[in-house]
Amino acid sequence: MSEIKTHYRNCNICEAMCGLEIKYQDKEIISIKGDQQDPFSQGYNCPKATALEDFYTDKDRLKTPIKRTATGWEDISWDEAFSEIIDKFKGIQQQYGKNALAIYLGNPNAHSLGNALFLRPFMKSLGTINRFSSASTDQIPHHVAANFMFGAGMLIPIPDIDRTDFMLIIGGNPVVSNGSMMTAPNVIGRMKAIQKRGGKIVVVDPRRTRTAKIADQHLFIRPEKDALLLFAMIHCVFARGKVNLRHIETMVTGLDELEKLAKTYPPEKVAEFVGIKASTIHTLADDMMAADAAICYSRMGASTQTFGGLCQWLTNVLNIITGNFDRAGGAMFPQPAFDLLRNQKKGYKSSFGQYHSRVRKLPFFNGEFPVATLAEEIQTAGEGQIKSLITVAGNPVLSAPSGHKLAEAFDSLDYMVAIDIYLNETTQYANIILPGTTGIENSHFDIFFNNFSVRNTVKYSAPLFEKEPQQRADWQILQEIAARMTNTPLDDPMLKITPEMLLDSELKKGAYGKQGMSLQKLIDNPHGIDLGPLMPCIEARIKTANGKVDLAPQLYIDDLPRLNSVMTQPARDQQYPFDLIGRRLVKSHNTWTQNSARLVKGKNPCTLEIHPEDAKLLGITKGQRLKVSSLVGEIEIEAVITDDIQQGVVSMPQGWGHNQKGIKMSVAATQPGVSINDITDADRVDLLTGNAAFNGTPVAIEIA
Ligand code: SF4
Repeated sequence: MSEIKTHYRNCNICEAMCGLEIKYQDKEIISIKGDQQDPFSQGYNCPKATALEDFYTDKDRLKTPIKRTATGWEDISWDEAFSEIIDKFKGIQQQYGKNALAIYLGNPNAHSLGNALFLRPFMKSLGTINRFSSASTDQIPHHVAANFMFGAGMLIPIPDIDRTDFMLIIGGNPVVSNGSMMTAPNVIGRMKAIQKRGGKIVVVDPRRTRTAKIADQHLFIRPEKDALLLFAMIHCVFARGKVNLRHIETMVTGLDELEKLAKTYPPEKVAEFVGIKASTIHTLADDMMAADAAICYSRMGASTQTFGGLCQWLTNVLNIITGNFDRAGGAMFPQPAFDLLRNQKKGYKSSFGQYHSRVRKLPFFNGEFPVATLAEEIQTAGEGQIKSLITVAGNPVLSAPSGHKLAEAFDSLDYMVAIDIYLNETTQYANIILPGTTGIENSHFDIFFNNFSVRNTVKYSAPLFEKEPQQRADWQILQEIAARMTNTPLDDPMLKITPEMLLDSELKKGAYGKQGMSLQKLIDNPHGIDLGPLMPCIEARIKTANGKVDLAPQLYIDDLPRLNSVMTQPARDQQYPFDLIGRRLVKSHNTWTQNSARLVKGKNPCTLEIHPEDAKLLGITKGQRLKVSSLVGEIEIEAVITDDIQQGVVSMPQGWGHNQKGIKMSVAATQPGVSINDITDADRVDLLTGNAAFNGTPVAIEIA
């Protein structure tokens, strides 16, 4: 045995970018703890960090390609796998056209340096516009708002949580998620610091979340009514004559139009639909206007719903008109060392609406179509039908709406390939699975999450363990498929390019390059480097053609009749009288952490929360099995009776339901749970952005 050594790296499981200190001996991990010297996370880590070891040692994970045959799965060589895949892809594209091949990218791609850098040439080599990803089950409304207001989809204002005095959180549970579209390790510590300096936190949510329990005030809201609340608050700001644009006064357009629109949403009109008293809405707006520095942060509950687009627009508007934009303690733009906007010119035309999906006419944006439309694009015959698919690190059968319908669609494909370390509910439909490597075998740099970070920092993590000779990293798989699809010789110098070369080049060309930023500098500083708090930078960062912030983009105005219609509809669906919402858990992340023994041990977390009055009415007792049905499916799940959930609303976590149809992920089998996406409806989307609307799914409940 050799000596015990220490390795420092960032955790790449969620968005928080926690620095870790890993003790190891030979190829065995002794401990994983928060790195006290990391300037950003300062020793914080959540229980999920240990899963990095579990992914690495997982006996279920694949290390070489496997192929589905009539007699079961068989190992094949990399060369055999690549040869067959390229033959099939090219054949299908020759027969049906380039777009007959589709790509689906899962959430782990955003957490991988190699994938973030090599996906672009990979996708280009496949030459298809049929691209889908988990982004359209999550944050597309944020990108659309950034695109139309500030000129770039990645230019998303981030809450300056460390300097604010008033934080309004709508539909977010950052104490559990550690921030999302707000990279902030130790949110709980940062929230307590707001309170310690005399500030106030208000949470608006149909569920009394852990974040709500820490906040100074919690207000229950009816699911999917957040846009009405935001508009009513904006109404109050105009009505009090308190619009305060500060230094961006000459940099906005659309203020008059916005005022006209806001006049039609007084608190007194929206209160009964929102479920919050008009007087409380007035006070909430007054509190925000009175604070020295305030921030409104709206997230999953306000993004993955039928008005997600409007919610993210109005959140930005509220921050801007209360004078809380591009200033300390408000909503600010990070200035990352690897700047995804470095080459983006002012007036750049985004791909929003460049195409519309073939069947349902949902908008293309950010180079992709909404995943809610993928099943019908596979199953609807006609020109442009998808016949073949490659998934990269994704399990949409569990993570996308109407997942069971996606399973049927995948089963009908002519040919499917999956790049994934697991044989799971999605990859089981593949003809070939190509396994990549896990977090600690890879180098890491957070290309995306530094763009959403509450502080400017930078860090590179080298691989902890070298991969085995028979293994390939995901980016190497992407690189080889791209080369073979474009008939590039495998000894071409382009194939010698590594993630480190590209990273070094971007760091040197970036905003800190003149101060000596480089890969070597990061290697010399293994705990990471602090680049300081967020700074006002709107004039330098804005990408609109006229250099102004558009407060009233036309596409949002055009969507308002849809919002207004909810105020004329009955509050309850007779057949499906409950609103289903999702629930985030500390010890799981989407679908990909459920084969970690340490994260799934203990009580079954996949339960349905129901209010005591609703339970009484239906004769439900604690722990009883319930049948939950929606327009598209039904599941059975255990009841938890709690007044943490609003009456008329039920909640269950997402990411469960592993081990369907004979899949054998041995740890997940001990706590499989059920998939919320067997009852969420792919037809429920935010029509403006195409994002899936998980929250507010109408369901019926009965005792099983
Ligand atoms: S909060 Fe996220 S980044 Fe931090 S340790 Fe947990 S999973 Fe990893």
